[in-house]
Amino acid sequence: MSTDLAVAYASGGELTAGLEAADWWTDRAVAAAGIPVRDVPFVTVGGGIGSFVTVDYLRIAGMQKSSIRVLTNLDRPWQTYEYLTRVSQIPRTARIRSDSASRPDNIWGFPSYALQEAVRDRTLAPLWQVLLEPLFTDFYTPRLGTVLDGVEREAGRIGYWDMVVPGEVRMVRRRVGGGYFTVLTPRPGTSSAKRVAVRSRDVHLAVGYPGLKFLPELQQFRLAHRDFTHVVNAYEDHEHVYAALRSRPGTVLVRGGGIVASRILERLMADRARYGLQTRIVHLLRTYVDGSHGPHAWSRRRGGHGFAYQGFNYPKSVWGGQLKARMRHLDGEQRASAYAEMGGTTTAFRRGWQRQLAEGRRGGWYRTMTGTIEQVRRPDGGPMFVRVRAEEGPVEVAADFVIDCTGLDADVTEHRVLDDLLRHGGAGLNPLGRLDVERTFELRGTASGDGRLYVSGAAALGGYFPGVDTFLGLQIAAQEITDDLARRGMCNRIGTARSLVQWLKCVTGREI
Ligand SMILES: Cc1cc2nc3c(=O)[nH]c(=O)nc-3n(C[C@H](O)[C@H](O)[C@H](O)COP(=O)(O)OP(=O)(O)OC[C@H]3O[C@@H](n4cnc5c(N)ncnc54)[C@H](O)[C@@H]3O)c2cc1C
Repeated sequence: MSTDLAVAYASGGELTAGLEAADWWTDRAVAAAGIPVRDVPFVTVGGGIGSFVTVDYLRIAGMQKSSIRVLTNLDRPWQTYEYLTRVSQIPRTARIRSDSASRPDNIWGFPSYALQEAVRDRTLAPLWQVLLEPLFTDFYTPRLGTVLDGVEREAGRIGYWDMVVPGEVRMVRRRVGGGYFTVLTPRPGTSSAKRVAVRSRDVHLAVGYPGLKFLPELQQFRLAHRDFTHVVNAYEDHEHVYAALRSRPGTVLVRGGGIVASRILERLMADRARYGLQTRIVHLLRTYVDGSHGPHAWSRRRGGHGFAYQGFNYPKSVWGGQLKARMRHLDGEQRASAYAEMGGTTTAFRRGWQRQLAEGRRGGWYRTMTGTIEQVRRPDGGPMFVRVRAEEGPVEVAADFVIDCTGLDADVTEHRVLDDLLRHGGAGLNPLGRLDVERTFELRGTASGDGRLYVSGAAALGGYFPGVDTFLGLQIAAQEITDDLARRGMCNRIGTARSLVQWLKCVTGREI
């Protein structure tokens, strides 16, 4: 943890009404409010995977540790990611969704995870899998533990911990004369200052998702009955559901057809087999996919038994092929319809999952329904009754638990800092309703003198680069940001010689 921001000020001021209302702040107004100011050339807000890969690029491009500060409410960059993967049933030993070369700990993606695993475990199997995927075998994907261990190692190598300043960012405002003030409420116990204003030339934001997303009908039930036990989101801790099913038989309604639903089904079915349970599963899908689908022959997507199948959350060429090039030239309506065409809910086709589902269908304890939830009621503390508007008309399903796999809330106006940028920072929305970024990931309309504000991750989805909320996507964004900063003289360009030298340092674990 960086101590310079945390202990430099014995007392701190408060935001005044004048500061809150002003789109541009002067040094004098901040000083008058008694808010201590600290100068750092580059600030990244969030401190998750997006901040980490951006800092990794900048350090490789030669930016000094003293020029970078990571303002974050996390202890470790992988903390939110690990929490969300764990509760949605990806333990450290399980394999994640992205491929062998998507390495957040290595900007070159080489050696890949498959090669690393082959060498470590002295087996050719991972390499064969990469060679034969996806036609003869499932896509190779790394284990979660391998990914997180790698990020931890790289964090140590680039001196990440020295750049971290713990706290909650309240707002980013443009500064008269250029650059920005990022207002931080330091984590209790790390500073006696109430607020600190970090004055920087450039700011990067990667703040992830503002919260969980619930279907309104499910949220209504939870709030009306104060029942957060029987209706749960897959992205919240819900181990009690599996524990209850081990003690007595029950019916679970799983809602959603994406990869998270696949993980939840895998867990329910694995527990059923392992403990000899009698769990019944009703799988509710809004749209039932019964075969290959898509508007053009070249872009048809495989599907069946209700699911749409795709290895990754977008077609692979989004990260480096024709789709990446095509999307860079689309704006407005055209971009929105391109997103609609390639987007949608998909899951990976995995042979193990197919076997489990087939067994459930044969045994009659797993069935799918198509429709939408209209109401949930729970009379007398017994089982819940979920009214579903199905194709054949309204149907009531008795269930002991509902697991909602709808996902995470991506509404940028729900995030305090992003909403503030829309109100006071000159930011606007893109055709998908998220933040409107340039091809360089600069947030349009927010330039401040010679300073720039960049955004990557979920908040920037809908821009010229669809894969932005993935490891590789966050790295591609980081590369664009680093190139832009290099053009503006803030760091070196990562040319061939630098790349080669830095790659050697990375693979040999030499600190920079
Ligand atoms: C379950 C799951 C599985 C995924 N699997 C894959 C995969 O296999 N492969 C892949 O490529 N991608 C995957 N992704 C997508 C993506 O790579 C991750 O979501 C990634 O963690 C996003 O990084 P981020 O920095 O944008 O967000 P995060 O890692 O969430 O970090 C942002 C953090 O910023 C902090 N923050 C927010 N506001 C403030 C504030 N005001 N002040 C201080 N701190 C703040 C929060 O703690 C927040 O968590 C997965 C995502 C999920 C949810």
